[in-house]
Amino acid sequence: MTDEFTTDIYYDDDADVSTLDDDTVAVLGYGSQGHAHALNLHESDIDVVVGLRENSSSRSAAEADGLTVTTPADAVSQASYVSVLVPDTVQPAVYENAIEPNLEAGDTLQFAHGLNIHYNQIQPPEGVDVTMVAPKSPGHLVRRNYENDEGTPGLLAIYQDESGDAQERALAYAKGIGCTRAGVIETTFREEVESDLFGEQAVLCGGVTSLVKHGYETLVDAGYSPEIAYFECLNELKLIVDLMYEGGHAEMWDSVSDTAEYGGLSRGDRIVDENVRENMEETLEEIQNGEFTREWILENQSGRPSYTQLRQAEKNHEIEEVGERLRELFAWAEESNESESAEGA
Ligand code: NAD
Ligand code: MG
Ligand code: MG
Ligand code: MG
Ligand code: MG
Repeated sequence: MTDEFTTDIYYDDDADVSTLDDDTVAVLGYGSQGHAHALNLHESDIDVVVGLRENSSSRSAAEADGLTVTTPADAVSQASYVSVLVPDTVQPAVYENAIEPNLEAGDTLQFAHGLNIHYNQIQPPEGVDVTMVAPKSPGHLVRRNYENDEGTPGLLAIYQDESGDAQERALAYAKGIGCTRAGVIETTFREEVESDLFGEQAVLCGGVTSLVKHGYETLVDAGYSPEIAYFECLNELKLIVDLMYEGGHAEMWDSVSDTAEYGGLSRGDRIVDENVRENMEETLEEIQNGEFTREWILENQSGRPSYTQLRQAEKNHEIEEVGERLRELFAWAEESNESESAEGA
């Protein structure tokens, strides 16, 4: 950790929604985060206008929810606070076409993820505040928590403070969407982006699926049945993670048998060893030096050829077919069909 990484946490008492009384907030996009932010802000008595393309299928949903909808360009010109909630890969084009021409000095430009600012894909003009309020949760939970008078933890970062009020305004927004009810952690664009990419690549999405596949393949290759391998290496993972989520590693170790605890403690570091650690450091370096993001931008510019291939290979893995069959046969399947997508990891 360097001095650049701060850890202040803000709650409801640190924020005042009326800070945005004279503002109109443009919410661009009405997907996972967009719909949640727009509706929560609206119900927090903040003026909201939703910006969507003429042919967007989200238009009717936003209108049915009682919100004012216009084009992204018009929303930005009406607004003094612009929340960019279209997918990260389309943000640079939306910025160029709809946002930049309509931004005025004194406006706030806000993101829920710092990728395009941190890697200079969007270069905001002087005179504009640039902030981030990033709920650490999929949008559907941001909305549901708000409706249940609960909060969603979030991150807050200031990239450019031209008004001198960037922090106060971003905190008002965070309160408007319900984040300060749970707690908002102060961070930087750099820390949010690099840690988010690292987490999803090394541990959450990439690391864990790879661990599961290697475990599954090791058992099946040794002659164990695919069904047993699926339960041991994938299905039970949820039970273990739930315990870790509730009470850290300690609660998990407490809850499993002594045999499992001794086996896990004595063998875990053999499986995920120093080589894995070195691979993690290399992965982090590619994030820090921009190599990953350059690759991802080129991948999108060339029509996503590798992405398509990797997706297909993942779909074709035997564990997917076994899982689909088992989820149809067992009662936990219904529950898993209702669970939220966790795209925001
Ligand atoms: P999404 O894919 O769910 O929704 C995107 C919305 O943008 C849709 O309403 C779509 O109609 C609209 N859109 C798509 N292309 C467009 C275009 N060219 N012009 C105008 N509108 C367009 O997006 P999301 O997952 O809510 O992500 C939005 C932002 O929130 C991203 O920066 C993302 O990193 C961040 N974020 C997402 C999550 C999450 O859980 N999904 C969590 C934290 C942060
Ligand atoms: Mg404006
Ligand atoms: Mg077991
Ligand atoms: Mg056991
Ligand atoms: Mg992410």
